[in-house]
Amino acid sequence: MSLSLTTEQIERYSRQIMVPDFGGKGQIRMRQARVLVIGAGGLGSPAAYYLAAAGVGTLGLIDADQVELSNLQRQILHSTADLGRAKVESGKEKLTRLNSDVEIIPYPVRLDYDNIDELFSKYHFIVDGSDNFDTKFLVNDVAVRTGKAFSHAGIVRWQGQTMTVIPGRTACYRCLFKKPPPPAEILNCQQSGIVGAVAGTIGSIQAIEAIKYIVGFEEELLTDRLLTYDARAMKFHTVNVKKDPDCGACNGTIVTESDDSRIV
Ligand code: ZN
Repeated sequence: MSLSLTTEQIERYSRQIMVPDFGGKGQIRMRQARVLVIGAGGLGSPAAYYLAAAGVGTLGLIDADQVELSNLQRQILHSTADLGRAKVESGKEKLTRLNSDVEIIPYPVRLDYDNIDELFSKYHFIVDGSDNFDTKFLVNDVAVRTGKAFSHAGIVRWQGQTMTVIPGRTACYRCLFKKPPPPAEILNCQQSGIVGAVAGTIGSIQAIEAIKYIVGFEEELLTDRLLTYDARAMKFHTVNVKKDPDCGACNGTIVTESDDSRIV
């Protein structure tokens, strides 16, 4: 890939290139970067849109689902005409229409124990926009084991949370939450509802974290902190998170293999 920008690219990205600590150098880093977005849904939609608009070189999109009517209130990659289509195909079309500079790679499959290592090895940063705890723990454990930086996020009703993990250096998702909650305690979008714009806010923060990681602001990422967002009260809080010396992901005692992994 060329290490310079075309006149058209300079114009397209001019408003971020003129940001002094982003610059042309940051833009070239964006061109060289590969980001995997897990889930083309509520979080993945805004994250992928902003990453594509910002000129990330390659964007992987993994989701096994088709577009349903009840998705459209928040999953802004998709529109009414896309009902029944694979979300990754619908997503690829919208993102390519926005910016054909970006290579969009669709994976119409479930992320699972068998494909996650190979997938992760192809990308520099992972945006986890999944909607279930099994996936979130799988993403965390494999990312930590393989040293892949990622952004975690979760949303429900009026609330969101997000945290970035740099394996080996910062606290991970399992340092904080230890293990998936019992099924009876789980709230998810399907059962509990979600106000769509909450996903927009949190997914945009995930895109920003990916961009900061790529451009070179590793010291200023949302690490060792969980950001919580209460949209109804309109309050953001950050909770400090410490690396847990007994964390099975961080100390390598978690075995990320199973015959029962159904993800995204
Ligand atoms: Zn950990």
